[in-house]
Amino acid sequence: MHRFVYRRAESVEAAIEAASSGQARSALPPAQAPGQFIAGGTNMTDYMALDVMRPDILVDINRLPAARYGHIEAGAQGLRFGALVRMAQAEDHPVVKSQYPVIHDTLKLAASRQIRNMASLGGNVLQRTRCEYFRETSWACNKRQPGAGCSALGGYNRQHAVLGTSPDCIATYAGDFAQALIALDATVETAGPSGARTINFADLQRQPGDTPNIETVLQPGELILFINVPAGPWTARSRYLKIRDRDSYQFALTAAAVALDMDGEVVREARIALGGVATVPWRAHEAETVLRGRTLDEASAMQAADAAFANARTQQHNTFKVPLGKQTIVRALLETKAMRA
Ligand code: SF4
Repeated sequence: MHRFVYRRAESVEAAIEAASSGQARSALPPAQAPGQFIAGGTNMTDYMALDVMRPDILVDINRLPAARYGHIEAGAQGLRFGALVRMAQAEDHPVVKSQYPVIHDTLKLAASRQIRNMASLGGNVLQRTRCEYFRETSWACNKRQPGAGCSALGGYNRQHAVLGTSPDCIATYAGDFAQALIALDATVETAGPSGARTINFADLQRQPGDTPNIETVLQPGELILFINVPAGPWTARSRYLKIRDRDSYQFALTAAAVALDMDGEVVREARIALGGVATVPWRAHEAETVLRGRTLDEASAMQAADAAFANARTQQHNTFKVPLGKQTIVRALLETKAMRA
């Protein structure tokens, strides 16, 4: 493992300062920058042990004031999660459970309870891909080393993405919570060397294009502080359906986060996001458009699913993701419709 300096920060300013030292000399994107933040550490230490991430300075942010950054506010305007809130803490929150079940589902169906007790929400949304060729440094990978090539394209690519891919990278975004956030129009508040800003969650992650090593719009030393989820008439009738090879502690093959605002049988507004099939958290706007103003039944749900995958690009081993992904959408829509609003 690469040797690093460990720093513990007790304020946001100190954390940014510590993570930014030396970064002015660095033109590297945030995930490869010499200064990195750590909270739960469930993803960071994994990749450090694999030598995929090699920070020079590791800044522990667990001592930022818990009353502010480890706290969940639930009110008429929506939810406000501090970035240090643990996944299990959010999963267990009574308002999340009753009024935002899609958020509860995405958290509960991720990883193990032990990991969810440790992992922070801020870190969760920035988790990196589980592409096997990214995790093993002896393989060529454009995301680790720009211009090196993509071993997954000619390799075993069953887990890889069919939406948002590029000729340089087909890695799947592995997270679940992010699908609920993008479906519900969440925002993140950040602070960094250039000041504070609010970013639409839909804009946080970047599709790979020809720079798969640049994964987000964050700047080096920029820290997520809060995640905000606005209230809406669709949040209570919502759910997350996750299809995987085994029923526990496994990443999605396909997944659908669905939230519905219904007028009887007719869809006023549908929110649909897809997991396990795209390079970034993926909002299926085309599918939502198909459903708006329509009676929701198996036929309209399948039309929406067809629209969601109209631009899918499959590889040798992942063609099954298109029909499976469509069936996942249909089932998620019909099961969400059957929920009591
Ligand atoms: Fe690397 Fe992306 Fe190719 Fe995986 S799919 S080997 S992460 S470039």
